[in-house]
Amino acid sequence: MNQAVATTPLSGIDSVLLDLDGVVYLGEHPIAHACESIAQLESLGVAAAFVTNNAARTPDRVAEHLRSLGIQAVDADIVTSAQAGARLVREMLGEGPHPVLAVGGPGVAAALRERGMVAVDRAEDGPRAVLQGFGFDLTWTLLAEASLALATGIPWVATNEDVSIPLRGGRAPGNGAFVQAVSLAVGRTPDLVAGKPHRPLIDESLERIGARRALMIGDRLDTDIEAGNNTDVPTLLVMTGVTDVVDVLLAPPQQRPDFISLDLRGMYQGFPPVVGDGTQWNCGAVSVEVGDQLTDLRFTGAGSYEGLEGAEAADPDVWSAAMRSLAAAVWHRRDDGGDEVMAEGRDRELGSRLSLLPEVATLQAGVDRMRHSTEG
Ligand SMILES: [Mg+2]
Repeated sequence: MNQAVATTPLSGIDSVLLDLDGVVYLGEHPIAHACESIAQLESLGVAAAFVTNNAARTPDRVAEHLRSLGIQAVDADIVTSAQAGARLVREMLGEGPHPVLAVGGPGVAAALRERGMVAVDRAEDGPRAVLQGFGFDLTWTLLAEASLALATGIPWVATNEDVSIPLRGGRAPGNGAFVQAVSLAVGRTPDLVAGKPHRPLIDESLERIGARRALMIGDRLDTDIEAGNNTDVPTLLVMTGVTDVVDVLLAPPQQRPDFISLDLRGMYQGFPPVVGDGTQWNCGAVSVEVGDQLTDLRFTGAGSYEGLEGAEAADPDVWSAAMRSLAAAVWHRRDDGGDEVMAEGRDRELGSRLSLLPEVATLQAGVDRMRHSTEG
């Protein structure tokens, strides 16, 4: 077996693309260890771009927010899906002060102006395209104007398709929900989507900071991680946002991260290789054994379940090794299709069975402890 030394996610990397919400901050509040981990990048000569699907705010407002948290960021470090969307619109229409109907917050209109276009808000203004993104003060009137304009057959670009946005204590409709509302009304779907997991936002970000070998860091599997996998950019999943341990275990192949860590300190963490033979998976000091049944899955050896209890479960190195070996075991079994309960389309049943395993509960407890300390 290859006993390669542990590499860090930053090995051979010249740039990082950082998602914002759930990675750097949660709403107004900074996430623990984010500021100092990001500050350390500069001394290593690694460039950083902050890449967000949220089209509501303008880059200067986001940069201001980051600076208020102690992160040295300038406007150009922020890449929004509104900017990537405006670029797509300009590519479709060509250069010129074309009128474009801007649906969403100030970020959408600002991105259009940045690309030399004129943001309008009524169908009778004769827009040549519609750019639709999220806005906190989005009105039915504006959605109606977009619908009327789209009936003329002009191009329609959506900044992103996130159906919901996380709120403290639940979730609320995101841009994807409003895009679907318009779609139902007009009987067509957007021609292009800019945001993660699609390519345009990643391309715009890589170009912006002149990245040659980048690392994508995010908290969501279906946007951040899938975007990296769609663009051949390696990925680091952090558990500071919306993803839980069971979500990782259930991830389809295109949403599986290369590295998984509790928080942004994971950029500098050593990741030993995960080595497995189908029944036993090893990573660092942790081993996972899988029996005939999924419920036979257990930690063994130096990384036994007992050893992972309590504070140990929140030790970043132990946690990552346990998480990655467990994920490798489940992903392998799932792709193998051997276990009936692992079959596609049984996610809910599989998820509840997995969450009952003490190994999974222990890892989730490590995540919960970290999140709780972040909130404090
Ligand atoms: Mg996020």
